[in-house]
Amino acid sequence: MSEQPKTGQLTFVAPRRAKPRRHLADLTMAERRAAVAELGEKPFRADQLSRHYFTRLTGSPEQMTDLPAALRERLVEQLMPPLLTPVREVTCDGGMTRKTLWKLFDGSLVESVLMRYPDRVTMCVSSQAGCGMNCPFCATGQAGLTRNMSTAEIVEQVVAGARALARGEVPGGPGRVTNVVFMGMGEPMANYKAVIGAVRRLVDPAPEGLGISARGITVSTVGLVPAIGKLADEGLPVTLAVSLHAPDDELRDTLVPINTRWKVAEVLDAAWNYAAKTKRRVSIEYALIRDVNDQEWRADLLGRLLKGKLVHVNLIPLNPTPGSKWTASRPEDERAFVRRLESHGIAVTVRDTRGREIDGACGQLAAAPRP
Ligand code: SAH
Repeated sequence: MSEQPKTGQLTFVAPRRAKPRRHLADLTMAERRAAVAELGEKPFRADQLSRHYFTRLTGSPEQMTDLPAALRERLVEQLMPPLLTPVREVTCDGGMTRKTLWKLFDGSLVESVLMRYPDRVTMCVSSQAGCGMNCPFCATGQAGLTRNMSTAEIVEQVVAGARALARGEVPGGPGRVTNVVFMGMGEPMANYKAVIGAVRRLVDPAPEGLGISARGITVSTVGLVPAIGKLADEGLPVTLAVSLHAPDDELRDTLVPINTRWKVAEVLDAAWNYAAKTKRRVSIEYALIRDVNDQEWRADLLGRLLKGKLVHVNLIPLNPTPGSKWTASRPEDERAFVRRLESHGIAVTVRDTRGREIDGACGQLAAAPRP
């Protein structure tokens, strides 16, 4: 700012766009109609575009035959700019698990994972490029936060998965996305507005949105207490998952550093408030780390904290991450941990960690542009 260009001297500074471009998935139907009207077109064109994007899952002007040819290009350019470019795709489980590395407009990299099961398809999406929460056992946290993603950038990951399924590109025949988990890169509650926008777009009935059931959506958080409170008041019955990983503040302060701000008791209070308001069972995520948090006394302590609540514990065998000294619990310790929790009457499952061999499992998304 200090140097003014001298008279007669032309300086061209390419504007560095700070934000991804506006996309119809960022907007409600009313906002889309207004945007189309601003372009001097009839508002119902927004409905047509939305149908192409959310129902027919297409972004190519050639396929939009219900729109005048000249208009298609213009509307697509204005309201459906490309936001994600696939960089690499890796699959395992015979193609039933597939991880995609995406490049965003500014070169930021994020990953999403599609997991097909006999009875459902889950998309695990990123909500931030990187993550600022700095949990030492998670690969995403190690590089820090690059930036928040926009609503449309989040939604596009699901639409891309839906498109691949609809076109039969995933083994098992044509299918649809039934579940979305905000468990990819980033802390969704630290990008609240965009994440809520994305959730609304996912649950809005077609063609306003994708029409996925709110019950099939899970928002996972390290425990940002004020944001959990806000989420409880949205009137969206999504599942809340809390990444607890330790029942005591002393250990949790080291595993989930934000615990130094909001303690275990506060996080759990926010979770119980969420359960009371939404009538949804809260999921407690607990990565079992050998000799770190897997002692029977900790299972007991956790059991006492959760006893009698609308809760379910999801134990995740620790997935390996580069440079981490930690490893998964011994099978006998895992079994003992489960038994202890169950003795308090708590529902427990051990997560099937899909995608380990492609670094696509919990905590392994790092978006390194390897060849
Ligand atoms: N930031 C949010 C969303 C990410 S969800 C959150 O933390 O909840 C990813 C889940 O995988 C979280 O529960 C996270 O704690 C867990 N996780 C991270 N690293 C892991 C690892 N190495 N092994 C197993 N689970 C891990």
